[in-house]
Amino acid sequence: MADCLFCKIAAGEIPAEKVKEADDWVAFRDISPQAPTHVLIIPREHIATINELEPGHAELVGKLFLAAQQIAAEEGIAEPGYRAVVNCNAQAGQAVFHIHVHLLGGREMGWPPG
Ligand code: 5GP
Ligand code: ZN
Repeated sequence: MADCLFCKIAAGEIPAEKVKEADDWVAFRDISPQAPTHVLIIPREHIATINELEPGHAELVGKLFLAAQQIAAEEGIAEPGYRAVVNCNAQAGQAVFHIHVHLLGGREMGWPPG
């Protein structure tokens, strides 16, 4: 999508610290990290929120979580533990309307989340 920050990052038009990428997703470090590891995993396809997911996206969504699993292992947070979070819409705190999995780890996490 022309005016989407994360589409531009995926296309390399806006710089980001990329961690890993594949044909259909890109992972990069959050510009304002909320934990020692804070990586965003996005599909290259523009999907605004979880609410716009369709049955045909099932494999793609699975790949985003498999990417989170791989990156967690590489960051050394797989065993201590981590969060993989997707915010949907304003009340949940979604600010960028291109679906993304937050991979957060490297510190104790509270529950319930704020
Ligand atoms: P949301 O609130 O939509 O779930 O998460 C959006 C995330 O994107 C936030 O954690 C925010 O810090 C991050 N972010 C916003 N703009 C940029 C940017 O230009 N580059 C990177 N790397 N992260 C960004
Ligand atoms: Zn987009």
